[in-house]
Amino acid sequence: MSKFFSEKYKALVPYTPGEQPTERSFIKLNTNESPFPPSPIAQRLCRMAAGDLNLYSDPQCRDLVKIAAEKFSVGEDEIIFTNGSDDILNFAFMAFCDKEHPAAFPDITYGFYPVFAALNGIDYTEIPLRHDFTVNVDDYMGINKTVFIANPNAPTGIALPLSDIEKITASNPGSVVVVDEAYVDFGGESARGLIHKYNNLLVTGTFSKSRSLAGARLGFGIASKELIQDLNTIRYSTNPYNINRMTAAAGIGALCDEEYFEKNCKEIIKTRENTKKALENIGFTVLPSKANFLFAKHPKIGGKVFYEKLRNEGILVRHFETERLRDYNRITLGSEEEMKELIGAAKRITEAAE
Ligand code: PMP
Repeated sequence: MSKFFSEKYKALVPYTPGEQPTERSFIKLNTNESPFPPSPIAQRLCRMAAGDLNLYSDPQCRDLVKIAAEKFSVGEDEIIFTNGSDDILNFAFMAFCDKEHPAAFPDITYGFYPVFAALNGIDYTEIPLRHDFTVNVDDYMGINKTVFIANPNAPTGIALPLSDIEKITASNPGSVVVVDEAYVDFGGESARGLIHKYNNLLVTGTFSKSRSLAGARLGFGIASKELIQDLNTIRYSTNPYNINRMTAAAGIGALCDEEYFEKNCKEIIKTRENTKKALENIGFTVLPSKANFLFAKHPKIGGKVFYEKLRNEGILVRHFETERLRDYNRITLGSEEEMKELIGAAKRITEAAE
């Protein structure tokens, strides 16, 4: 740390992103990316946009907004695009949290929430999940805090029914409820349809997972036009060009190629169910996931040791060294081939541990 670093950030512990190795080729099941390349249409539009990179991008992202609003059945003033959904989550902490509205989120959830809170000097409460990693909705009734709920949750993959999201939103009319739907396309129920009923609901989404554009960085928020206006105030006060031309073009291509999107989501869901069964057959406990990853533990081997042994075999998964999570590993669903490799390695490693 330099002597110039602002006093207000000295204690900040940044988020640790999943490893992006360059030194050898791994089977990469550690950052919940899609195993499928971006849609050919997205790739083509993206390449075409490269020729215009001498010009700034459209801060209003008009073409992208138009097609997305139609796709998600919302008004063009009810959607905002951001540089990945991390960007909009940060904006939500900035826009909707203060002394009167501290943040609240589960104790086990996306690890960036406490970092955004700390970055913005916002107090927060971590509400414990039940023993089985489910959310107790009663804990969120009328809490008058800005609630952040990942649905499906990470790293567990467990989803809340839409009726529970609605209960939480309805019982907190004085504060914003942010539903982070990064993984919703793999079998969850989206709350997007509720934004016309609740003016305190912000639903965020991403093109990083189901639309194979993690490297392009494209996220979005859907909410009442007043909430979107607030988020745009923050966006225009930081970086109005947060969506570059190639990303906007890729986003349009991805939205146009509905067939490709649906085929890939179906494939991941199929792989998820097959992988879950195969892991259970060799003794793993696997949480019920509605996401593009599984959260699993084995009685014969610690989570950290299993992670390291997989790594030695050239397979990367994500391990979290916190008390309630350390027995587990989060395994992104890759291609059928990659999952075969994973199951083979898991079998060898767990048998050797007996
Ligand atoms: N929310 C959750 C729950 C996530 O796991 C992630 C990805 N790590 C994000 C949001 C952010 O994804 P992105 O910035 O790529 O849209």
